[in-house]
Amino acid sequence: MNEPQPSTASEQLVHQARRLRPLGLATGTSGNLSVRAGADGAMWITPSGIDYDELQPEDIVFVDAAGRSTHRLAPSSEWRMHQAVYRARPEAAAVVHGHPTYATVLAIRRLEIPPLHYMIAAAGGPTIRCAPYHTYGTEALSEAALAALEGRKACLLANHGLLAFERDLARAMWLAREVETLAQQYLMCLQIGGPVLLDEAEIARVVEKFAHYGQRAR
Ligand code: 13P
Ligand code: ZN
Repeated sequence: MNEPQPSTASEQLVHQARRLRPLGLATGTSGNLSVRAGADGAMWITPSGIDYDELQPEDIVFVDAAGRSTHRLAPSSEWRMHQAVYRARPEAAAVVHGHPTYATVLAIRRLEIPPLHYMIAAAGGPTIRCAPYHTYGTEALSEAALAALEGRKACLLANHGLLAFERDLARAMWLAREVETLAQQYLMCLQIGGPVLLDEAEIARVVEKFAHYGQRAR
C-alpha cells in the first residue's frame, strides 16, 4: 500500500525537512525549504534554526508578499532568497536550500558543474553555475543566486551550498539530491584525470526528452 502523503503545505514541509539530513542535504539546522503561497511571492517556509527532528506543522512560518510574518517563530534567515525565486520565476512552486558536502566543496572551490552526465539536464541546461559569495540571508545573495539560476532550476552558492526549485516540493528535493550526486561524480572524476564531457547539443536533446519523460497521463 502507498504511504499516505502529507496534504497541507506545512505537513509537506515538515515531511521533507525531516529528510534533509538523511539524504545528506543538510547538517545540523542548516538548509531551509519553502512552498509558494501566491503569485506575488507569499510563501510557507521553515523557521530559522529549529532542529528538523523537533519540527511540527504549526512551526511553519507564513511570509507575505512584503516579507512580513506574524508567527511566534522567525522565518528562515534565507527567506529573501526564497522570495526572490518566487518573484522572478513563475514556474517555481517550491524551493530547497542545503549544504550538502560535495556540492559545497565545489562551491568552496567556486567551480561550476560541467555537462559530465546527461542528468545535468534535469537542472535545465549544460552547467550548474556557482553564484559568487555573499553573506547568508542578504539581498546581495538573493541577487547573485537569481543570476546563477538564469535558464536553470539549480545553482551552487560560493562557500555556502546549493539552491534548487521545482514545480512542487517533492521534485525540488529530488533535484537538490541529483545536484549533490552530480557534484560527487564530478569530484571523483577530478581524481582520475577529469570527466569526458557531453556537448551542449546533447544536453539540449535531453532537456527536451525530459519534458516527456515517464508515464503518460491516461
Ligand atoms: P536557517 O536556519 O535560518 O533556515 O538558516 C540555515 C541556512 O542554511 C542559512 O544559509
Ligand atoms: Zn545556508
